[in-house]
Amino acid sequence: MPVCFLHIALDTPLDSLFDYRWEYAPEAPPRVGQLALVPFGRREVVGLIVEIRQETDVPVEKLKDALAVRSQLEPLSAEWIALAGFAADYYQRPLGEVALPGLPKNLRLESTVNLDRAIKKLAKLEDAHDAAPANVPLLNAAQHTAADAIGQAHGFAPTLLYGVTGSGKTEVYLQACAQVLARAPQGQILILVPEINLTPQLEGNIRARFPGVMLATLHSSLAEGERMYNWLAAHTGRARIVLGTRLAILASLPHLKLIVIDEEHDPSYKQQEGLRYSARDLAVWRARQLDIPIVLGSATPSLETWHHAQSGRYRKLELRERAVKDAVLPRVRLLDMEKDRPKDGLTSGLVAALKARMERGEQSLLFLNRRGYAPVISCDACGWVSECTRCTSFMVLHRPEHRLRCHHCSLELRIPRACPTCGNVDLQPLGRGTQRVEEGLQLMFPEARILRIDADSTRRKGSAQAAFDTVHRGEVDILVGTQMVAKGHDFKRLTLVGILNPDTALFSQDYRASERLFAQLMQVAGRAGRAGGNHSEVLIQTRYVQHPLYSAVMKHDYDRFAASLLTERRQAALPPFMYQALLRAEARELALALEFLQQARDCVEHDGITLNDPIPMTMTRVHNVERAQLLVESNSRPALQAFLKTWMAALRALKSRVKWSLEVDPVDI
Ligand code: ADP
Ligand code: ZN
Ligand code: ZN
Repeated sequence: MPVCFLHIALDTPLDSLFDYRWEYAPEAPPRVGQLALVPFGRREVVGLIVEIRQETDVPVEKLKDALAVRSQLEPLSAEWIALAGFAADYYQRPLGEVALPGLPKNLRLESTVNLDRAIKKLAKLEDAHDAAPANVPLLNAAQHTAADAIGQAHGFAPTLLYGVTGSGKTEVYLQACAQVLARAPQGQILILVPEINLTPQLEGNIRARFPGVMLATLHSSLAEGERMYNWLAAHTGRARIVLGTRLAILASLPHLKLIVIDEEHDPSYKQQEGLRYSARDLAVWRARQLDIPIVLGSATPSLETWHHAQSGRYRKLELRERAVKDAVLPRVRLLDMEKDRPKDGLTSGLVAALKARMERGEQSLLFLNRRGYAPVISCDACGWVSECTRCTSFMVLHRPEHRLRCHHCSLELRIPRACPTCGNVDLQPLGRGTQRVEEGLQLMFPEARILRIDADSTRRKGSAQAAFDTVHRGEVDILVGTQMVAKGHDFKRLTLVGILNPDTALFSQDYRASERLFAQLMQVAGRAGRAGGNHSEVLIQTRYVQHPLYSAVMKHDYDRFAASLLTERRQAALPPFMYQALLRAEARELALALEFLQQARDCVEHDGITLNDPIPMTMTRVHNVERAQLLVESNSRPALQAFLKTWMAALRALKSRVKWSLEVDPVDI
């Protein structure tokens, strides 16, 4: 029997690939892109074959045999391996740590029983019936131009679809998709959305529009079996449309012909733990590699994307008006909290506006990006506040659940009956979260049907969808919610949006805070007035009525605001005019973390690269771990990448006991 050596990527932090010996039947040679079961330490694990070699440097006594090669599965394509390889390189991780977690868990189990069953089920699947597609709306001129430009594009054509909220971007995607599906008989399309909660709305639209086309969804709340099935549907090419959240960017799509990134500015495209990748950036790379078009859609593009569009690297298509007849953008007004003092968090101006909606049978949305009842409780007598014992943060009061909760380490306590320091029984909630707003509204409007939607009210699987359905059916008068309700939803009956407490973000240390706040306000404002009529309003309660950010929101003037932010960024040498990476260190003692970073700073030459001083992170302690960071900057991306490569090797060689990680293109610094 012939023998070869399988060069395999394994899911381990060790930055190398591993060789295994493999004896195979001549009629079934192993192939690159197949998965193999191999012994690793005391375990048996599944790895990815990235090369097949006739020779190996591994000494005979150390060389082990592979246990099995998974031949039922079509190999992962060279393009897919290259994508994982690029992500690994760019984010400075071993290939195996990128490639293998990107596959469904079941594929990585030792047994293959499940796999056979999955695959059989797919093979038996008949193509869905050719039911009549749902009514296709007639596009307006701007939509038409955009849909054709995207649908007819060939080769790598990155396009920013810059369309105000409600301008019908979805319809443009759908009609562009229709053109691609018609043109490429096997062709596949990948559509990414920022939130799991937005998949059902779009899934419904896609299924209605393309009844004969198989659609697979990929997101983190699928059960393992489902995830495997959907992944295989994409991998085998049966699913022609794949709709998912950021993790779907690593789906295996052998016939990918178009990528759509909806709400491309959304921070949730950035993975914030483990491999800290940007799904949007990987998508652009993937499109370039495959030489296919990609659309980035947004009413408030990220400054990175906007910068590319302004400089001509991306094509810009604009939708300036709302698509529904008579629908106009809502009027935005500021309510001065210095003059109109809020009661229960609401100014009289906002209360009057809510009343008017109730009388007309229209819906209102109150947006407050803070869940819980109050962010902290305190004792007036001695000054005690509910700090988390494990984190640099406060325990949030959750009144309905009778709990104090830390949102960073999940510590939970019963609400103390009395102050733990002085025994005072009169503890006061400070500030307000969505639960408290809901309570206040109930007292003020006993008749109103009020619904709160936030991470707490939607813990159970399916409950978020059920809540959104209630809103769509018109069974809610006032909706109270966090950013969960701000994005993407097409609420038809909503004519008022009240924004309760946006001021804190105006003075954040994070240089991205104003970009984010602006996008968030424009997004949530965009939920109002989507069905037509001209009396929709957005009311912002603020103490800073003169602030330029609010003036820009009032004028719906993204262009000018983005231009001013870009000027600031250029002057301050910040992204997108600067490239950054952040080294983080964690230890039981802050001094150890800082010491490691100092060592890291001194251990290599770094011409042309700025290594800033190590500093404690803003939230220094989380779950009893002290955290510090070191910011690395360069005005050249290739120079930064080259430096990181040598630096990582040097850092690994330090063999420090301090836990550290690197983030490339960090967003929270
Ligand atoms: P966006 O994603 O740009 O915020 P949507 O795609 O949700 O906007 O579209 C807003 C609304 O406009 C939806 O109700 C959609 O059905 C409707 N719509 C889109 N295009 C048209 C059109 N050409 N004619 C009529 N209605 C349209
Ligand atoms: Zn006290
Ligand atoms: Zn905590």
